[in-house]
Amino acid sequence: MKGNVIISVRVRPDGPEDQMSSDWVVDGRHGQVGYRGKDGGMYEYDNVFSQSDNNARVYESCAKRLVRRVMEGYHGTVFAYGMTGTGKTYSMQGTTASPGVIPLAITDIFSFIRETPHREFLLRVSYLEIYNERIHDLLASQPGSTGFVPLDQQTKGEEIKLREDPKRGVYATPLKEEIVQSPTQLLRVIARGDLCRRTGSTQFNARSSRSHAVVQIVVESRDRVAGASAGNMADNRRAGMNGGVRVSTLSLIDLAGSERAAENKERRTEGAHINRSLLTLGTVIARLSKDGEKDKDGNHLPYRDSKLTRLLQPALSGNSLISILCTIAIPLSNSGAANLTNIGETMNTLKFAARAKNNIISHAKKGDDFLNGVDAGSKALLERYRAEIAELRRELELQRRKDEVETAKELAKELAKEQEFREERDSERVCQLFFRNQLPLLLG
Ligand code: ADP
Ligand code: MG
Repeated sequence: MKGNVIISVRVRPDGPEDQMSSDWVVDGRHGQVGYRGKDGGMYEYDNVFSQSDNNARVYESCAKRLVRRVMEGYHGTVFAYGMTGTGKTYSMQGTTASPGVIPLAITDIFSFIRETPHREFLLRVSYLEIYNERIHDLLASQPGSTGFVPLDQQTKGEEIKLREDPKRGVYATPLKEEIVQSPTQLLRVIARGDLCRRTGSTQFNARSSRSHAVVQIVVESRDRVAGASAGNMADNRRAGMNGGVRVSTLSLIDLAGSERAAENKERRTEGAHINRSLLTLGTVIARLSKDGEKDKDGNHLPYRDSKLTRLLQPALSGNSLISILCTIAIPLSNSGAANLTNIGETMNTLKFAARAKNNIISHAKKGDDFLNGVDAGSKALLERYRAEIAELRRELELQRRKDEVETAKELAKELAKEQEFREERDSERVCQLFFRNQLPLLLG
């Protein structure tokens, strides 16, 4: 594997493996795949998976390490790229019997949290879809409810916009983010988003092949500081020093079918900008290679040309770990000429993967820890929570002091009363004594 980019190709034969066209070579051991026919070629990748490799194996090799690094504070993105029907969704979501990248990543995220008791974590998730260069929030609408408007019919007002802020970077707004505390809860939120995709379209497959589904899990974490409590200034100050919040994002992306990316002629028709995102993603990746390190800040790259690349700019600017899983389906030997276009498309996928392989010059840097300082623009919810808790504690402490003062005042009042009472009693006694003892003597 080269640097922070992993390129894998997953092959799904269109039938039994032994009937696969002999023009194709799939060599998992050497990470090679290729076509011997006209306009073919051999390519080498970090991983080549054949039909016998299941989802668990795919996850282990192309996403497990990346997920771990995200938990440690790096940004990470997994893309599934390929023609419709080649297994992108199968690889990302999987089935109950064979869970894919998303559920396996979620399991690992929570294992990591369990194994890291000295840090506290806050997870939030968003799920959006980019369709026709428009962003739709899959968590904002209720699946099946009458309020749901099919995405194709949604008005401009409900569209999600991309904004940029020096503190937060590029972000989508107004985007619903849900805080999740368990794997089941996280899976349930994503399942709800999936349901919205389905109920939002009469032809789910047609639309899913033309839209990008983007799951983003934001991980915030910071060190727990033992003994940090109200009233212990030294500890609190130390908490401020060590308690910087680390923010990283795991993006899991089921891309639109790549077959349309190559059809530039289609660009003026109905599908005009359907896959501008995919074209730009390819361009960005290719350009990253050409311009090399000079462009790692992303200045001259056409991120703004598509919603997808704009949204993922941090992930593609050399500040992230990237894993691209390209899926291809290889035709059977007896399938004849009907598959000629497929061969071209499959070769396009292999070329896309090859271009990315050596090209993304990525230098993963840990997301900066936010030390101290609380500002409204801060992305770190944990930091805001910490500030809120500190504020509440201060208020409590003030209240406690006020109460103490009140109590002291009352006490003083009571003491004064007691004193008065005693004085009265004492003077009475003196009088009594005087009358009883002294007066008779005086009177003789
Ligand atoms: P895509 O999302 O790329 O359009 P899908 O993931 O929906 O494609 O896959 C198309 C069909 O092929 C689905 O029925 C899926 O279950 C099946 N499939 C894809 N890849 C595999 C695989 N590696 N093993 C078994 N079934 C697969
Ligand atoms: Mg799909």
